[in-house]
Amino acid sequence: MNDETLLYTKDELAFRSKVREWVDKEIKPLADTITSPDFDYRGYFKKLGDFGLSGLLVPKKYGGSEKPFMYQLIAGEEISAVCPSATMMFGASCTLSAIPILQFGTEEQKEKYLVPLAKGEKIGALAITEPKVGSDTAGMVTTAKWNDKEDCWVLNGEKRYITNASIADQIVVFAITDPNVDSRSGMSAFIIETSWEGFKVEKDFDLMGRNGVHVTHFSLNNLKVPKENLLGKENQGFLILMNELDSERVGIAAEALGCMKTPYEIAVEYSKEREQFGRPISRFEGVSFKIADMAVKMRAARLLLISAARMIQNNMPCTKEATIAKLYATEVSLDVCDMAIQVCGGAGYVKNYYPLEKFYRDARLGTIGGGTSEILRFLIQREVYIESRRDSAAQITTEVEDVDFDTMMASIPNGFRPERAEGVTAVIRFSFDDTDSWLLNIDNQKCSIEKGDTESPKMTVKTNSATWSDILLGKMDAMQAMMAEKVVIDTDDMELLMKFARMFRFTPEILQGVPKTIPKETQVTPSESTFELGKSLDEIEIGETAESTMIVNDEHIDLYAQMSGDYNALHMDDEYAATTMFGKRIAHGPIGGALVARVIGTQLPGLGTLAFNMKVNFKAPVFPGDEIKAVVEVTEKVVEDNLCRLKFDVFNQDGVLVMDGYANVMPPIKQ
Ligand SMILES: Cc1cc2nc3c(=O)[nH]c(=O)nc-3n(C[C@H](O)[C@H](O)[C@H](O)COP(=O)(O)OP(=O)(O)OC[C@H]3O[C@@H](n4cnc5c(N)ncnc54)[C@H](O)[C@@H]3O)c2cc1C
Repeated sequence: MNDETLLYTKDELAFRSKVREWVDKEIKPLADTITSPDFDYRGYFKKLGDFGLSGLLVPKKYGGSEKPFMYQLIAGEEISAVCPSATMMFGASCTLSAIPILQFGTEEQKEKYLVPLAKGEKIGALAITEPKVGSDTAGMVTTAKWNDKEDCWVLNGEKRYITNASIADQIVVFAITDPNVDSRSGMSAFIIETSWEGFKVEKDFDLMGRNGVHVTHFSLNNLKVPKENLLGKENQGFLILMNELDSERVGIAAEALGCMKTPYEIAVEYSKEREQFGRPISRFEGVSFKIADMAVKMRAARLLLISAARMIQNNMPCTKEATIAKLYATEVSLDVCDMAIQVCGGAGYVKNYYPLEKFYRDARLGTIGGGTSEILRFLIQREVYIESRRDSAAQITTEVEDVDFDTMMASIPNGFRPERAEGVTAVIRFSFDDTDSWLLNIDNQKCSIEKGDTESPKMTVKTNSATWSDILLGKMDAMQAMMAEKVVIDTDDMELLMKFARMFRFTPEILQGVPKTIPKETQVTPSESTFELGKSLDEIEIGETAESTMIVNDEHIDLYAQMSGDYNALHMDDEYAATTMFGKRIAHGPIGGALVARVIGTQLPGLGTLAFNMKVNFKAPVFPGDEIKAVVEVTEKVVEDNLCRLKFDVFNQDGVLVMDGYANVMPPIKQ
C-alpha cells in the first residue's frame, strides 16, 4: 500500500488506472504524430468524447460524465505524462471554453454549444489575450457594439495566442461593451462561431514546445453576433473571467505534474542502469540527490494541487491556494525536467533516446500561460494581506459581538464614503433568508437605510444575516462570498456593483452605531517646527524635536502611489496601496503609508526629502478628515552616511496614538 490511498479516493484511483490504460492505448501513438500537418484533430476530440473525458465536469443531461473536479485533474495529469500538447488542446476546449457556458449559459446555449463540446463532436477555445493585452486583461480593447438596426452585436478587434482557435468551431470571446466605464464593469463574453463572416485567422504561431497545438492570432472584423449569443449578462464578462481562474490554475498545475512524471521516471531508471567509474551512477550522491530533490518537488506539488482541488470541490474560496499550486508546480516542473536531463547527461540532451528535451520545452509554457509567475506572486501576496486584514478584523469583532444585526444594518450609512459615490443614485435591496429586508438609498453622495422592500431596486443583495455580518465585520471577503454563492447579487448595473464594493468602510465604533463625523476641511496645513530648512547634519542636535499637523485626505493615497515606484502600490487599489513602501512592508492601514510619506518623509519642516528604512507600528485606525499630529525626535546621527534617525509618534485629534515608529532621514546638504 502506498499513500495514494490516503490522498485519493478509491473511485479516483480506479479512474486513474482506467485513464492510464486508455492513454497508453490511444494517446501514446498520437504523441509522435501530433505535429504532422494532417493530424486528425477531430478524431482526437472524438476519442476524448467516446471515452467520456471531453465532458468530465458537464452534467449528464448535457452529454457529459458529471464527475467531480479531481477527475479532470487526474485526466489532465495522465495525458500530460505522455503528451502535454494533447492536454493543452483538451483543456482549452473541454474546460476553458465549456465551463463558462455551463455556468453562465442559457438553456439554448447549453444545448447548442455545450453538448457538442461535451461529446467531443466540436472543438472550442477561449479568447482573452490580445496583441496589446496580456497580463493586464482589464486593458482589453476588442469592442462589441450593439447595432439596433440589425438587432445584433458587432465585434471588432484582434485576439492573439488563442489555443485551438484555428481548428475551433466556436470560441468564447471577451470584448468591451461599455467603453465609458472601467473595463471590469464594461466587459462582456460572447459565443462566436468561426464559420461566421468577419472571423479571420491571421496566423498560427511556431511554438517552442507543445508542438502540434494550434495557437492562433485571429481578427474580428465587423463580426455580427446575435443577441442570444451574449454569454451571461451584458457587462458581466469580468466576473465570468474571474470565476474560472482558480480551477484553471489548478488544472495547469495538474498538467505540470504530468510534465514532470515521465522525465522523473526516465531519470530514475537511467541512473540505475548507466555505469561510470565501475558502478551505476545512482551510487553517486551528485546523481541520487538530484533524484531526491525531484521526488521532493513532485510530492510537494502534488500535495498543493490536492489541497486546492479539494477546496474547489467543497466550494471553498481558494484563490491563494490555487495560485500557489500553479506557481509551484509549473516552476518545479522546469527544475525536474532540467535535473532529469542532467542525470541522463548526453542521452538527456540528444533527441534520439528519450523525450526529455521535449518535456522540458513543453513544461516551459507553464510559467507563462494562464497567468505568469510574476502575476501569480502578486496575487498570492495580495491574498496574504487580505487575510492579514481579516485576521486583524477578527480581533476587533469580539468588541462588537453584542451588537444586534439590526443595529449593524442601521449603522451602514456611518461607514459611507461619499467621495466614492460621486454620481451614484441607487436603491439597493438587501434580501435576507432569515430576517427582514432592508433598503439602502444612495442619492448623490448621501446615504440612508431603512427596513422595507421594493419591487424595483437597482441591485439586490441576497444572502443571510450571518454571512452579511461576517462581511461587515471583515471576517469574510465579499468577492469570495459571491464566488462561493453565499451572496448572490442581482443587477444589470455592473458599474454600481464595482463602486458599491468600495463605498463603505467600517470600524467597531461604526458598527455599534456611533456616527463618524468627517470634517469638511481637507487642506494640508503643516505647522511650524523647531527644525529649520536647510540645516546640515552637524547643525541638527540629538534630542531635537519637531511637530507637524495635517488633515488626512484621500489625496495622500495618490501621493503615496506617485512617490513609490513600487509595483504593488501602483497596482493595488487604495485599500492596499499603503502596504509597501520603498520595497518594505511598513503599514497595513488604508492610508498609513501615504501618511507616513507625507508627514514624516516629505512634509516634515526642516528635514530633507528622503526618508527610508522606516518602521511604522499602527495602533489605531485613521480616517480621511482626521487631524493628525506627528511628534518627531532626532535620536541618532550617522555622520558617515549623512543621515539621522528619528523616532515619531502620531496622534489624532482626540489625542489617541495612531502610529509610532522610526525612520532614517537624509538632511539637505548646505551649499
Ligand atoms: C502557447 C500559449 C497559449 C495560450 N493560450 C491562450 C488562450 O487559449 N486564451 C487566451 O486568452 N490566452 C492564451 N495565451 C496567452 C497567455 O495567457 C498570456 O501569454 C499570458 O497571460 C501573458 O501575457 P503576455 O504574453 O502578453 O505577457 P505580458 O503580460 O506582456 O508580460 C510580459 C512579462 O512582463 C511581466 N509582467 C507583466 N505585468 C507585470 C506586472 N504588473 N508585474 C510584474 N511583472 C509583470 C510578465 O510576468 C512577463 O514576464 C496563451 C499563451 C501562449 C504562449
